[in-house]
Amino acid sequence: MMMEQWITRALESGFDAAGTLDCSTIILRTEAREACKSDKCRRYGRSWSCPPGCGSLDECAARIRRYSKGLIVQTVGKLEDEFDGEGMMDAARRHAENFRRLSKELREHYPDMLPLGTESCATCDLCTYPDSPCRDPFGASSPMEAFGMMVGDVCRANGMEYYHGKGTITFTGCFLLEQATGQ
Ligand code: SF4
Repeated sequence: MMMEQWITRALESGFDAAGTLDCSTIILRTEAREACKSDKCRRYGRSWSCPPGCGSLDECAARIRRYSKGLIVQTVGKLEDEFDGEGMMDAARRHAENFRRLSKELREHYPDMLPLGTESCATCDLCTYPDSPCRDPFGASSPMEAFGMMVGDVCRANGMEYYHGKGTITFTGCFLLEQATGQ
């Protein structure tokens, strides 16, 4: 399938926005990794999908450099007000479910693809990190920030909105699909 067709497929499968990712626009920032270290989400050092388990920033950069093209997907939740926790949770849940489903479908066409989502991998009730290897390396996905990506940068560089306006919350993820020449 061509990338345009995957965009259509992403929209059909429940995402509110989707676009092409030009992997050469990806800039990795140490600040993103530093933010992981502050451990606000309580996943630092607790998952293969997050630092340090997902590899050093250089290792993440080497993995990203293998790709030329991918897909950005977004879920935009409508909130009643800024305290609408239920609305935020609903949108997060919808995004995670659609991301998992599309990831499975994409994997059939791009066996070596790299999914980078919004949150730490939640495939298992308890991550095996660091005692034994990941149970599902093909189903697992890291958050974009864990690989040093700033979501706003990626959206701006690829013509996608990062913020969809007052009273909304946006969740963004991406799939790195096509291999760069010579990889
Ligand atoms: S698939 Fe399981 S073991 Fe692997 S990163 Fe996700 S939670 Fe951890």
